[in-house]
Amino acid sequence: MYKTSDDLFEKSKKLMPGGVNSPVRAFQAVSRNPVFIDHAKGSKIYDVDGNEYIDYVCSWGPGILGHAKEQVVRAVQESCEKGLTFGAPTEKEYILAEMVQEMIPSIEMLRLVNSGTEAVMSAIRAARGFTGRDKVVKFRGCYHGHSDGLLVKAGSGALTQSVPDSLGVPEDYTRNTLIAEYNDIGSVEGLFEKEGKEIAAIIVEPVAANMGVVLPEAGFLQALRNIADQYQALLIFDEVITGFRLALGGAQEYFQIKPDLTTLGKIIGGGMPMAAYGGRKEIMETVAPLGGVYQAGTLSGNPIATTAGIETLKILREQPELYEQLEKNTNKLADAIRNAFGDKVCVNQIGSLMSVFFTEKKVIDYATAVSSDTRQYAAYFNSMLEKGIYLAPSQFEAMFVSAAHTKEDLQKTAKIITSACSGERKTSISFCD
Ligand SMILES: *Cc1c(COP(=O)(O)O)cnc(C)c1O
Repeated sequence: MYKTSDDLFEKSKKLMPGGVNSPVRAFQAVSRNPVFIDHAKGSKIYDVDGNEYIDYVCSWGPGILGHAKEQVVRAVQESCEKGLTFGAPTEKEYILAEMVQEMIPSIEMLRLVNSGTEAVMSAIRAARGFTGRDKVVKFRGCYHGHSDGLLVKAGSGALTQSVPDSLGVPEDYTRNTLIAEYNDIGSVEGLFEKEGKEIAAIIVEPVAANMGVVLPEAGFLQALRNIADQYQALLIFDEVITGFRLALGGAQEYFQIKPDLTTLGKIIGGGMPMAAYGGRKEIMETVAPLGGVYQAGTLSGNPIATTAGIETLKILREQPELYEQLEKNTNKLADAIRNAFGDKVCVNQIGSLMSVFFTEKKVIDYATAVSSDTRQYAAYFNSMLEKGIYLAPSQFEAMFVSAAHTKEDLQKTAKIITSACSGERKTSISFCD
């Protein structure tokens, strides 16, 4: 029987909250029903209604090589034949760990886990265990997964749905989370002057990408490094999005700042559920069974997920020029959009990450991000979707460009966006292959 997205959504709503397994997928922020995906290949994603889209969500980040990359799929198929899970160590975990260590040298030792949420939760536990301190500084609008203590002023889904603080989180669980403002080093200094001796760590998205994309201003990340050193607190980079995205070595390579701990997710799993946390050896040695910080996982380091991760990282490592190309192309797309919309939008872009904010303000932090007109974004999203461009269904998410986006895809996208806005202006841009 032929199924439509609307049929499936009606049925799903009866069994799953909002019909989905992660809130932003419900398309509430853009006031429409979600499209249900049937399959995807390369830069394209196809819904069950038979529509084709150029995909700029890329599963929220993992898809840096595009969908269903042959080499990855083949390796996963072969790995499946050998068994889906063993709950015992495998060579692949070592191979992946070694690759990560080589690409991100600040990670001297690491643990594989199953989601970004778990990676961040565990990294913070290790930071607390190592320092013997309880408090953690996080930034308004930065998202670090949905663990209790971090659901304070988080971005992303929570931001769009105007419930920045979740129900069901006891105040006691967030008492030790201190909030600073992104790109405002004074707000961090203020917290440290008052409670510096009790602060275990600063956790930050080195490029914020969950209140839309917000770049760190010059010197911001270095200043965080300095404050952490001054107070013997740890600096944690949440590179769940930026890891293997901005550069092979993530944002820490891009900006040349060395954190004490790093969390990874999304790309590291090559499309399978996998994530990692790691950093200085002496910190990671506090994790069980070596040390007293408990952390475990039945499916952690799963052989299928590690296979997808290894193959993805191999491909990235074999063509480091990819990052420059992605950056150039995304930069051109950003320029095309700036040209088209003029002062009515703020386009933030770095590497293959980008956001179009419907505000005349320069977006540098949470306050300026939420100055965006989300109704205009919804109109823009809907008009793009109708023309075959699949964007994030929320103002406060990133647009991801992948290696599978061809020159033609990008040109077509630029043309559609340009013609979508009122004061039509001509853009002529040439993308790299
Ligand atoms: C996606 C994300 C997470 C959470 O990862 P999940 O795999 O969704 O649990 C944490 N931190 C950042 C920066 C993210 O973008």
